This record gives sequence, C-alpha cells and structure tokens, in this order.
Amino acid sequence: MRNIQSVCVYCGASGRVDKIYKDAALRMGEVLARAGLQVVFGGGKLGLMGLVADNALANGGRVIGIIPKHLEKFEGAHLSLSELHVVDTMHTRKQKMSELADAFIVLPGGFGTLDELFEILTWRQLQMHEKPVIIVNVNGYWDPLKKLIHNIIEQNFATPIHALFATFVDSPDEVLDALDNGIVSNFTSDEQVQGA
Ligand code: AMP
Repeated sequence: MRNIQSVCVYCGASGRVDKIYKDAALRMGEVLARAGLQVVFGGGKLGLMGLVADNALANGGRVIGIIPKHLEKFEGAHLSLSELHVVDTMHTRKQKMSELADAFIVLPGGFGTLDELFEILTWRQLQMHEKPVIIVNVNGYWDPLKKLIHNIIEQNFATPIHALFATFVDSPDEVLDALDNGIVSNFTSDEQVQGA
C-alpha cells in the first residue's frame, strides 16, 4: 500500500444509531487491523468510535487515541488503547490526529465528524497535505454530502479538482483498494462538473 501505515478514522460518538452503522464500524476496525494499519482516532469509548477501536484491538491492531482533557473527564476515554494522548484543546487534538495519519477515513457521524472532515479537506485545498480522504458511504448516509460537494463546485465555490480530494466508497471492505488507488473521483459522469 502506497506508504500508508497509519490511518485516522473520524466517526460518530453516538451509540443511538442503527445497527448497520455499528456493524460498519466494527468491520472497519477489523479490516484496518488485519491490513496491519495503525488506527488513530478521537480516543473516546462511545458510539462508532469505540467500536472501531474495540474491534481493531480485538484483531491485533494498534490503536492510538487523542483526547482533549475536558472530554476525558466528561465522557471518559477508551482505556484499553495501545496509546492514549491527553491534550489541552480540541485544536491540538485535531492537529495531532492529522500529524499521526497517512490517510483519513470518514465513517457516518454527526457535527464532530463533519468538522474533522471539512478541516482536513480545507487543509488539502490549501496544500497543507496530500493525504487521501476516503468517505465510507454506509447505507447512503453521505449521499447529501456528495450532493453538497457537487453543488459547491457547480456554483463555483470550488473547482472540479476539489472533488478529487475525497473518494466515496460504499463499505469498509472497499477502503483498502481506495487507499491503494490513491485519489480517484467517483462522482458519476452526470455528477461530474465541467469547467473550473
Ligand atoms: P460526532 O460526529 O458529532 O459524534 O463527533 C465525533 C467526532 O468528534 C469523532 O471523530 C471524535 O474525534 C470527536 N468526538 C466527539 N465526541 C467525542 C467524545 N465524547 N470523545 C472523543 N471524541 C469525540
């Protein structure tokens, strides 16, 4: 795999979600661990985050959590990780998560996940990194996001090249191929926006 040894997973902290999302999180942890990829994540034990970490560890993977002090006290960190870094602020945390990762994987999530995704896409746009971003569109959860990105480009708030910064796949099992292939636009031809 192209120089990728460590991947950061962004995903929801809510546990009140459909089983289809929980199963995808478990599978993601397993796929990454079995591929020998280190997992970096938000360090919490809740929701999909906890499931990715649990199942990566259960499959012999190495998992690093980065959690800010206030979340550690408030909701609790995952305590069985290979490494847990407690940092001062959310900003330090996001910086550290991105530094430790060679690629980013986005599972279904809420505002926190979107914040993390858009920050990493913005940093890519500003040429602060060239790391792949793979969005796992479980159950079509991210279809509205795909539409939004299309609209942003169609209305010239970004150029078509920016659509290449995120690769959408349908399931955790497609993530490794997507990482191997590098940056691929998988917007369909009628979604593809012409002209910059
Ligand atoms: P959300 O999508 O709003 O559930 O937020 C999840 C994302 O934000 C994760 O990728 C985490 O990095 C971060 N996050 C939100 N809540 C927590 C928490 N309680 N513990 C650790 N990280 C969290």
